[in-house]
Amino acid sequence: MKIVRSVNRMFKISSAARRAGRRIGFVPTMGALHQGHLSLIRAARRENDLVVVSIFVNPLQFGPKEDFKRYPRAFSRDKRLCRDEKVDFVFSPPAGQIYPEDFKTAVLVKGLSDLLCGSSRPGHFQGVATVVSKLFNIVSADTAYFGQKDAQQTVIIRQMVRDLNIPVKIRVMPIVREKDGLAMSSRNIYLSPRERQDARVLPEALKLAKALMQSGQRDSRVLIGRMRKLILRKKNAKIDYIAVVDGETLRPLKKVSSGCLILAAVFFGRTRLIDNLIAA
Ligand code: AMP
Repeated sequence: MKIVRSVNRMFKISSAARRAGRRIGFVPTMGALHQGHLSLIRAARRENDLVVVSIFVNPLQFGPKEDFKRYPRAFSRDKRLCRDEKVDFVFSPPAGQIYPEDFKTAVLVKGLSDLLCGSSRPGHFQGVATVVSKLFNIVSADTAYFGQKDAQQTVIIRQMVRDLNIPVKIRVMPIVREKDGLAMSSRNIYLSPRERQDARVLPEALKLAKALMQSGQRDSRVLIGRMRKLILRKKNAKIDYIAVVDGETLRPLKKVSSGCLILAAVFFGRTRLIDNLIAA
């Protein structure tokens, strides 16, 4: 496994591999790897000749009051995990390589970036789309792997790839959860033991929605109301949003239908967690 810091070098390695007909699987991450990331890496390993994992904490996708500085960084451990998964290249450039001083461009996927998570995190998805489009140009992957955990992100990336004719296939892998149901996230370590306990209510609320749907309830307002009530039983939970939306356009839906998304973002203390469910 090789660690690549230079954009130029990564570009040369991947374009040569692609020319040689090798299939490249690419997994973009911000590091502090957990089983969720590893599920993407394993899919990439199964389906490709060469696996590239990027580890880059992207300053552009953090708001001024967000956790960029204290975001967990665990490069030695990440390297070990990648080596164990037989990753070929870890691409971990310094920020100055990705954003030189004269950097001026932004990628904005209009209409999908300013709602849901985007409304409480202004600029977040523009930062994501900008870095991901750069990474796609640097690592000329055949297939890139993303997690369903960040559902809105996957919708935005798919739209961007279509709109900009980026020659990469997008694969979205299921949410990997802790034993008690909490979706794995690098940010879970921010939770105090009490908040960690309370956070179980988030997957439980989605489970409740699923059970209600299975019993024939299709009214989004009812589902959202029941989820809200369950979550608010935890004194320290603060709901950012709960929404039922179309899986492609992210438009709110009055009735749930197969393939639509039920999304929730909830603060436990200062930590904002997200989770979601695709309706059957
Ligand atoms: P991050 O390092 O948080 O930017 O995440 C990198 C990739 O891992 C993104 O595509 C995430 O959606 C994905 N990911 C994060 N957590 C999970 C999880 N619990 N299950 C599946 N994929 C995940």
